[in-house]
Amino acid sequence: MKQNKHRTLKLALLFSVIIFSIMTLSMLLIGVIIVMLYYTGHLGELDTLFLLIWFIFPSLITGIVIAFLVAIKGLQPVLKMCDAITKVAEGDFSVRFKEKYLIYEVSQMAECFNVMVKELDNMNTVHTNFINNVSHEFRTPLSAIEGYAAFLGNEQINKAERIQYANQIIGVTEKLSVIINNILLLSKISVENMKIEKEYFNLSESIREVLIMLENKWSVKKLSIDLELQDFLYLGSKEMMEEVWNNLIGNAIKFSDSGGQLKIKSLKNKNTVIVIISDNGIGMTKETQEKIYDKFFQADTSHSQDGAGLGLSIVKRIIAVHQGKIHIDSELNKGTTFTIDLPMLKK
Ligand code: ADP
Repeated sequence: MKQNKHRTLKLALLFSVIIFSIMTLSMLLIGVIIVMLYYTGHLGELDTLFLLIWFIFPSLITGIVIAFLVAIKGLQPVLKMCDAITKVAEGDFSVRFKEKYLIYEVSQMAECFNVMVKELDNMNTVHTNFINNVSHEFRTPLSAIEGYAAFLGNEQINKAERIQYANQIIGVTEKLSVIINNILLLSKISVENMKIEKEYFNLSESIREVLIMLENKWSVKKLSIDLELQDFLYLGSKEMMEEVWNNLIGNAIKFSDSGGQLKIKSLKNKNTVIVIISDNGIGMTKETQEKIYDKFFQADTSHSQDGAGLGLSIVKRIIAVHQGKIHIDSELNKGTTFTIDLPMLKK
């Protein structure tokens, strides 16, 4: 607010200096001409009133002409800005201001405009990619449903086949509803300055609850689970944290071979909480690790029916809204460890 007032005063001063310079310049010009005409004998003897009129009117006209020329030069960036804004409004995000302007404020306005258009361009790309990915994720299950429905319509198939196709349709629609729920969750938590509904809960207990929920998945694979959980109260969103454990432990199970081992550890230091989830499954290359938080990224397509590559984007965002950090250590064919650091938040 104070800075704005300061900048307004600066601009007003600049404007006054320009007007003052124009006036002085035009008066000087006419003054010099009158003196020259007088000394060369072209004016003869003049009375004061006549001299004054001779001075004021030409000065005024010269002033207007100079002001007009200065305004044309000064208003050029404003007109250019108008054209550029119209182009952006029509969806062209390639416009940029390249030149530097004499007035610092105008140069700054051009710079801010460039930053804004670049951001809009990025957002537009993210948006388009998101729509393309969503359409792609929906296309495959929808054609599967179409295919199974066509089989079901065939009168020649027996009861067992009918049940099998019906189950396939149920499986695919379940995957679709998981994708839709994840997209909705991601859009809900992606809001800037999102407020979380915080409550005190036992963080390790929430991990145990998720493990129980996932029991059918890890018991089928005969995974051994090594738990080292400290009990303490943590202030945050229990529902969101359960989503984090569900995704990380779910992935650890999904990307482990039968008979593998999961290790889950939670501990509280003075002001921070640390949760470590590790598996000795398929692991990841360095290139994969750089992309895992991207929306719809899946390195291992053999498990693509069990997810849509949104899980870790959701995890990262939830940790961020709790002001925490997530770190990955992974080696191909050796295993993966996710470490989460959460600060103890205040009410
Ligand atoms: P998805 O729901 O498809 O698993 P995620 O966002 O949870 O999507 O994970 C993105 C990708 O990261 C996965 O497809 C997989 O390639 C890789 N990934 C995630 N967790 C692990 C893990 N524990 N071990 C190996 N790869 C993993």
